[in-house]
Amino acid sequence: LNAPDKTTAAFLLRIVDYGESDRIVTLFTRDHGKVSALARGARKSRKRFGGALEAFCLLEVTLASRSRGLWRLGETALLRAHPGLATSLARLGAAARILELARELVPEHEPDPVMFALLEQALPALASAGEQHVASTAAAGMLAVLAHAGFELRFTDCSVCAAPVPRGARVRFDPWRGGVVCTPCGGGPIGLSATAVRGLLALSSLPLDRTPEAGVDAASAAQIHAAIDAFVQHHLGKPLRSSRFGAP
Ligand SMILES: [Zn+2]
Repeated sequence: LNAPDKTTAAFLLRIVDYGESDRIVTLFTRDHGKVSALARGARKSRKRFGGALEAFCLLEVTLASRSRGLWRLGETALLRAHPGLATSLARLGAAARILELARELVPEHEPDPVMFALLEQALPALASAGEQHVASTAAAGMLAVLAHAGFELRFTDCSVCAAPVPRGARVRFDPWRGGVVCTPCGGGPIGLSATAVRGLLALSSLPLDRTPEAGVDAASAAQIHAAIDAFVQHHLGKPLRSSRFGAP
């Protein structure tokens, strides 16, 4: 009944202890989507997987003998580390939030090469972003992950009546509607300045490695994150667990 081994690129999404000596890893693989795998001996010896079971790295993993939905993790190698992420808590926190959001949104055992490519872009972009651009790069990454999962937030017109948002005006964001809601339609709990709305539109249209060009200031980034967080919490029914280290 054993399926042949499969080797694929993967991100480590979660790792939990299992019994005395093993761990169970949740991986987002390029070829098989999100899968769980038993990492035998990983708890006893960090060397067992060549020290490669590190978060935020692009790995090459071999998955073997699937049984009852669980693969066994075989050889694991590091394809690409992102050492720049470890240079600040803000970068680490942002990377953790993007991976957690992807983990929550992708189904199991369904390859999603576009989401995989988004993560491949987001982590290096965060690793190399200047400190003042980490928050906006994180926001752009989260917006891209949400949009790819089918949740394109609306910032150019009212989510209820579709009236265009007046340029240069402060607007209200409603996480239940997933977008801006005009005053006659009842508004929403999160305020977004005109600058934040401009920043959002720029972030949504730029590739992740060019988010600094959006010129989002710290105050706008904080408002944008408040809107994203409220939407994610509403949609998932819980907040993301990864803390926003150092985020504004
Ligand atoms: Zn309206």
